[in-house]
This record gives sequence, C-alpha cells and structure tokens, in this order.
Amino acid sequence: MSLTNHDRLYWDEAIETLPREALEKLQLDKLRNHLIFAYENSPYYRDAFIQAGVNPYEFNSLADLRAYPFVDKKTERTRQLAKPLLGDMLAVPERDVVFVSASSGSTGVPTLSPFTAADFENYQNIQARLFWAAGVRPEDRYVHALNFTLFVGGPDVIGAQKLGALCFWAGTVPSDRLIQIMQDFQPTVTWTTPSYAWHLGETAKAKGIDPVKDLAIRRIIVAGEAGGSIPATREAIEKLWNAKLYDFYGISDIYGACAGMCEARNGLHLAEDDILLEVLDSQTGEPVEDGEPGEMVLTTLTKQARPMIRFRTGDIITADRSPCSCGRTHVRITVSGRIDDMFIISGVNVFPGDVEFVVRNIPGLSGEYQISLYEQNHLTRFELNIERDELSSEHDQDLLNQLQHDLKLRLGVKPAKINLLPTGTLPRSTHKAKRVVDLRQSSPVAGGK
Ligand SMILES: [Zn+2]
Repeated sequence: MSLTNHDRLYWDEAIETLPREALEKLQLDKLRNHLIFAYENSPYYRDAFIQAGVNPYEFNSLADLRAYPFVDKKTERTRQLAKPLLGDMLAVPERDVVFVSASSGSTGVPTLSPFTAADFENYQNIQARLFWAAGVRPEDRYVHALNFTLFVGGPDVIGAQKLGALCFWAGTVPSDRLIQIMQDFQPTVTWTTPSYAWHLGETAKAKGIDPVKDLAIRRIIVAGEAGGSIPATREAIEKLWNAKLYDFYGISDIYGACAGMCEARNGLHLAEDDILLEVLDSQTGEPVEDGEPGEMVLTTLTKQARPMIRFRTGDIITADRSPCSCGRTHVRITVSGRIDDMFIISGVNVFPGDVEFVVRNIPGLSGEYQISLYEQNHLTRFELNIERDELSSEHDQDLLNQLQHDLKLRLGVKPAKINLLPTGTLPRSTHKAKRVVDLRQSSPVAGGK
C-alpha cells in the first residue's frame, strides 16, 4: 500500500467504503470458506457442527449462521484445558502459531489467543486502519502506553508503525517516567485507558507540568473502560489535555482492537470485512433491531489459528448501520456495559469471583464480603468490606496484610480501602448475595434488552 498520500481519508478506501450490499456479499463468501476451514481443521468445531446438525458446505446465506452453536469464554477455557497448550479449537499445527496473548478470567486460568503469521499481519493491518480513522498520520509521534506482558494490546503499536507514525514503545512505565517521555520526545498521540488518561494529566499538573502547554498530545486513544464513550468523562479528559479522545474496542479472544471511532466520533466502526457482527437478545438468542441493546456476538472471517464462530462477548451494545458522515460503511457499535458483574480498576478486569476466591482462602475471615465501587477524580476505585471469623485469634493487621498481598497477586490491583468488620455485620441472603454495590455516577448500564 502506498503511503505517499498522507491527506487521503482512508487507510483502505475500497474496503472501508464498500457499499453494504457488496460488503455483505464479501462477508458471505469469506464466512462460507471460514466455516469449511474450521470444520476441516479444528477437532472442536468439527464435532460441534456435526452435533448441531449443520454442514458448512451447504452454507448459503448469512442468516444460516443462526443454526450454528455459540462459543464463549468458558468454551475457550474448557477446550484449552482438554488439550494443552492451545486447545482443540485450534485449526493449525502449533508450529504455525507465532504469537499468543493471555487473558485472565473469573477462574484465574489464563486463556490463550493464538495467531499465525498471517493472522498477526492481518491484525496489524486492522490496527493501522483504526489508527488512520482516528486521525493518526505518518507525521505523528505516537507513544504506546499499554502493557506488553502477554497482553494483546501490546503489539497494537506495530499498527501505528505500519501506518508510518514514529513510535515510542513505552508500555506501562510509572507515570513520572511516562510524563518525562512526553516532555522529552513531544509525542502527539497516545493510547491508554480513560482512567489513566485522567490520572496522568492530573499527575503532570501536580508536578507543575501543564499538559496543554508543556506536552504535545493532541489525540488520545482509549479502550478497556466505558469512559471513552461517556460524554462527561470524555469531555473532562479532553479539556485537561486539550486533545481529542477516540474510543477503541478490543477483545483478546479475537484481536487487539476490532473497532474504533472515526473523526465523527459517533460510535465505533467495526472491521466488518474481517469480523461478522450479530447483536442478540441475551436471553432468547434472537437478533435485535439496530439501535436496540443486545449482546454482541462476533465471528471471525479469516483468523486461521483459532477461528471464533459465534463468540458471545458478554458485552451489551447497540449497532448503527446508517451512513456515517466519514463515508465509511462499516457498522458502528456503542458499548453500554457488561452482562456479568466484572468491573475494571486501572484497566484491569476484576471479577467478584476472584475477590471471593481470595477472601474464602484466608483462615481468620468469615468468607463474607462486599465490594463498593465508586469514582474519585474519574477513576473507578473499590473498597472491600470483610468480616473476621469470631473464633480466630489472628491479629487484625496480619489479616489485612495477608489480604492485600493475596488480592494483588490474584487481581493485579488492590482495593483503595479494606474494612475489617465484626462477624455478622454484612447482610446475609439465602438468594444470590448482592456482592457489588455500585456507587458510580457514570456506571454503565448492564443487562440485556
Ligand atoms: Zn465514521
């Protein structure tokens, strides 16, 4: 691809502006081949398709996909454990896999997302496309502030490099160091979580550095939290930095980012030539209309290492296929929340089940707990209420130290505060206990239609 015309609007005009009818035809052709590929090469999919009574050789319309079985995070984990290392959803020999990302889930078993060399190349081409749509150009200096340790967002920096931007591979360095990099090298674009973008700007100010005058950041890409699509949060961060915020959506089971905002910033364009979207009622599994909230279900169209056929993301979104002022025809999604109780602290996914795992494994505690989520300076924080076991003779401070240590180990983050209460203080319930009290103003609305 030529990079000589820096003023062009699109990274890949032919694909990004393909009329919807032609786009759907392209999706159908790719999907049929992809289903056959999965059936012929992945032991898991072969069995699953046979059991569901579907034959990919007879696949004739996108609607036929509705007869195919779903997969979810649990399927991934189960199939991975059934045939270590990469599981029997794999559709290529392990020697063809060149990269994996790992993500932790509610049971603490990291699930691996494998890529072949071709998958990785395709993934980076999509990252370049999303960066371009967000206004990043070869003239930009880009500082990548996402985690490089097994996290799928790490290699996204290669997409910015592919586009031609000058890239600094910072990763998750301490804030002071990142601010120093921004002072020394004057990068114009960065990518982080919304919470961290706020925290970083405030930290700079506290050091006497004005993010607007002393730093050159003019575009901030955010992902991993709802804040990037919540106007109040977005505006506050934009004012702090005098920069424009672009929300991206990523999911490690498929790629890093799969969707991102264009200059119109009215929803996130999904790379529909490579990923098929279904929006379904999470209870009935029936499709919902555009504009109606439903669970996002994604199907890869080319990813070879591990095809994902009807992957239930657990994210509640609305879809918009009406024309966008940018001229792109690919669907725009707006994510409104998670189906489960997961919450995000400093960009780290935290599951109440992980907290429970830790609390229940420390002798001297009753095992009851309650999590309070609240906002402080646009950062989500959490407090943990726990109870002593009345028969325990452990010192309070020893219990708290143990808990802090084990939580950090298990979750990667610690609560802002832990309240150790006498036995019997927390509410008991014979039904599902309300473990999470969400006091956030901008709390995303979870739950289906
Ligand atoms: Zn657009």
